[in-house]
Amino acid sequence: MHFRSSVLAKTTIADRTIEVVIAVPSDFHFSAGQYVTITLPKLHNESVHEQFRDFSIASSPLRSGEIAIAFRASDSPFKTQLLESPHGATLEIDGPKGIFTLPETVDRSLVFLAGGIGITPFLSMLHYLTETRSLQRVTVLTMNHSQAESPYCQELRSLTTASHTMHLIEHIGRLTETELSEQVERHHDVIWYIAGPPAMVSSTQGTIEKFGISPGDIHIESFTGYA
Ligand SMILES: Cc1cc2nc3c(=O)[nH]c(=O)nc-3n(C[C@H](O)[C@H](O)[C@H](O)COP(=O)(O)OP(=O)(O)OC[C@H]3O[C@@H](n4cnc5c(N)ncnc54)[C@H](O)[C@@H]3O)c2cc1C
Repeated sequence: MHFRSSVLAKTTIADRTIEVVIAVPSDFHFSAGQYVTITLPKLHNESVHEQFRDFSIASSPLRSGEIAIAFRASDSPFKTQLLESPHGATLEIDGPKGIFTLPETVDRSLVFLAGGIGITPFLSMLHYLTETRSLQRVTVLTMNHSQAESPYCQELRSLTTASHTMHLIEHIGRLTETELSEQVERHHDVIWYIAGPPAMVSSTQGTIEKFGISPGDIHIESFTGYA
C-alpha cells in the first residue's frame, strides 16, 4: 500500500530517541513486527538514498488510524527534516513490509533479543499479545548502552509486570559470549528473535548458532543503515 500521511505527534522516549506518531487510513493493516518505508517529499532535492528510511512499527496492529515509529536522532537530512516537521507535515508511506512476525501457534516459547532501538518491532508484538490475551510465553532481553538510552523502558516494565507470560531482562551493555551461552542454556526449544543494528544482529546470531541453536529457529531484523 502506498499513501500520503501526516505527522500527528513527536515525543522523546529516551536520550536522543524520538517517537513519531503518524496517521494511517482505516484500511491500513499490518502484522506486529512489520515495517514501513517513509519518504519525505520535502527532501526531493537530496539524493534518492537520503529521501527515505525504513522503520519498524512500534505500536499495536490493533491501534486504529495511527502508527508509531521510533528512532535514534542523527544529523542525516532525513532525520533532521523529520524532527523539524510540524504537526500535520506530509509524509509518504509504503508498506507494510517484512516477515519478522509472530509464529502462528503459541506452543513454543519465544526469546526476543533487542539491541537498543531494535526494541521497536518487539514492542508492537508485546502490545498485540497483551491485547489479544495471548498465552504466548516470551522472554524479552533488552541491551542498551545506558539506562537513559533505553527506549520504552517504562512501557516494557508495565507490560511485562502485568503479565504472567512475559518476562523482561534489562541489560546494560553488550552481552558477552558467556552471558549469551547462559541464555541459550536457560531457554530450551524456544524460537529466537533478534533485532537491532546489523553488527549486533549478526554477531548475536553467530554466537547463538555456535552454541547449538538451529538457524531455522532464529528470526532476524537487521536495521540496515545503523553503523
Ligand atoms: C527493516 C528495517 C527496520 C528498521 N527499523 C528501524 C527502527 O524501528 N528505528 C530506527 O531508528 N531505525 C530503523 N531502521 C534503520 C533506519 O532505516 C535507518 O537506516 C537508521 O535509522 C539510520 O538512519 P540515519 O538517517 O540516521 O542514517 P545515516 O547516518 O544517514 O546513514 C544511513 C546510511 O545507510 C543508507 N541506508 C539507510 N537505510 C538503508 C537501507 N534500508 N538499506 C541500505 N542502505 C540504507 C543511507 O543511504 C545512508 O547512506 C530499520 C531498517 C530496516 C532495514
